[in-house]
Amino acid sequence: MKNILVSACLMGENCKYNGGNNYCPKLQLLTDKYCFIPICPETFGGLKSPREPAEIIKDKVILKTGEDVTDEFIKGAEITLKTALDNNCKIAILKERSPSCAPKCIYNGKFNGVVIKGQGITARLLKENGIKLYSEEEIDLLL
Ligand code: SF4
Repeated sequence: MKNILVSACLMGENCKYNGGNNYCPKLQLLTDKYCFIPICPETFGGLKSPREPAEIIKDKVILKTGEDVTDEFIKGAEITLKTALDNNCKIAILKERSPSCAPKCIYNGKFNGVVIKGQGITARLLKENGIKLYSEEEIDLLL
């Protein structure tokens, strides 16, 4: 069975900024084919749950309170990449719209709920290292 990296919140882990999760029941359709390797880059970077929401503003990641958490996000991305490489993961299923995990779209940095094209900090690093990214909205492509 192939290993596949999965955002831990999609597997039901309460690591989301608000203390909850993004459980995705559709993942169960893949359990015959893949072995899931859960990752939460924001937890890896030292952030606690619950925490303030963060958005990407230019080349920084900023909490809603204004605190710069770019270093924590970069640390989390690096640990996630190491986890992927150590486990020979060539594919990842990542939470869309997250400033860490999002494969294709993120919030616009104004905390107003508007979504724009873009990638999370971890998603970008994984892609640069040849890992193919899918969001939880694209699981059908892996069936
Ligand atoms: Fe989920 Fe990724 Fe956010 Fe962690 S960093 S809560 S895995 S979306």
